Amino acid sequence: MIENAVLVIEDGRIAGCFQGEAPAAPAGEPTTAFDFPGCTILPGLIDTHVHLNLPGDGLSLEDAVREDDGVLVAISMANAARALRAGITTVRDVGGARNTVFHVRRALSLGYGEGPRVLACGQPITITGGHTWYFGGEADGEEGVRHKVRTMAKAGSDFTKVMATGGGTLNTMSWLPSFRLSELMALADESHRLGRRITAHCLCAQAIEWVVQAGFDQIEHGGFLVAADGRQEFDPRAAEKVAKAGIPVTSTLAVGGYMLKEYRARQARGPLPPQDQRIFDRWQRMFDDNLEQFRRMREAGVTWVAGTDAGWRFTAIEGLPLELELMREGGLSAMEAIVAGTGLAARTIGIDDKVGTLKPGRIADVVVVGGDPLADLARLTEVRMVMQAGRVCGSR
Ligand SMILES: [Zn+2]
Repeated sequence: MIENAVLVIEDGRIAGCFQGEAPAAPAGEPTTAFDFPGCTILPGLIDTHVHLNLPGDGLSLEDAVREDDGVLVAISMANAARALRAGITTVRDVGGARNTVFHVRRALSLGYGEGPRVLACGQPITITGGHTWYFGGEADGEEGVRHKVRTMAKAGSDFTKVMATGGGTLNTMSWLPSFRLSELMALADESHRLGRRITAHCLCAQAIEWVVQAGFDQIEHGGFLVAADGRQEFDPRAAEKVAKAGIPVTSTLAVGGYMLKEYRARQARGPLPPQDQRIFDRWQRMFDDNLEQFRRMREAGVTWVAGTDAGWRFTAIEGLPLELELMREGGLSAMEAIVAGTGLAARTIGIDDKVGTLKPGRIADVVVVGGDPLADLARLTEVRMVMQAGRVCGSR
């Protein structure tokens, strides 16, 4: 933390960070100065788990994918613009329908619309009938999954995403591994052979152990479900294996956070119908379990990286500050939480040579927020300016 900081940006990159006063610019060189008294300058925020395709207004995935690709691209572009305005200068999209997210990444790179830097996997690879199969990512057997990794690489994947258990889609089993261990090993091998990192959605202990064994680079959610009713049992052995492998786990606590917020708001308007009350109770229990597991995983030495699962049900694309706040509730300091959504996030997804910190030479993705987020992480929502590669967003 630098008090009275001056950040110098040159040709879209960080030139230096100084206390009090910056060295004078060479004579004749045009400079622009911005002054933000009482504010904090941070690296642009990075959300490592979003779904740009999904509106985050409560719509289920089943309903969202009824829309044609053109509409999904439009939703994604709208989400991208909102994310950037919220100071989120990089998102990693961990699953969309068909090639829609690649189209979005391309359109943004051509300058059509504003949005964060997008890293995309395309379709998450899933077993036949598995979690999010509607996106088009079904593949089975060792040869089948290798072919799917290659197909996504051909379409433009930056990394590979695998659904190693079921999830919150109809008729999938979150409490059981989806792929066999041999398929997971083929997935990791093929992805690495093609120079791509690989991450897995895991909601049960067995799947966690298997993806560690298969050599995956990261785990999403890291849940410990044991039954269809949402019960979880923390498994210290699985946590220890993750810690030992040094694989970061993406937190996604905001999903529960937003879900509870929504149902609390409904409750405030009047008594909930029994069906809604059941959903509310179930999410309350799962959220408490998730927070407890967050603490225990951390105690076991697991590294948590920030990701919201934005788009999923009520999770807003601007949800990263809430995610960081929940990570702090789970035992991180405010600074650790901010690092989990900036520098550590960049390192986890392999772009720390470009963004994530304000080191000289890095691309100038910068956000300015009101007040001191170390005193109150909610300050991260008071965005005063967003800069992408040295360009002030909204200024074009
Ligand atoms: Zn997700």
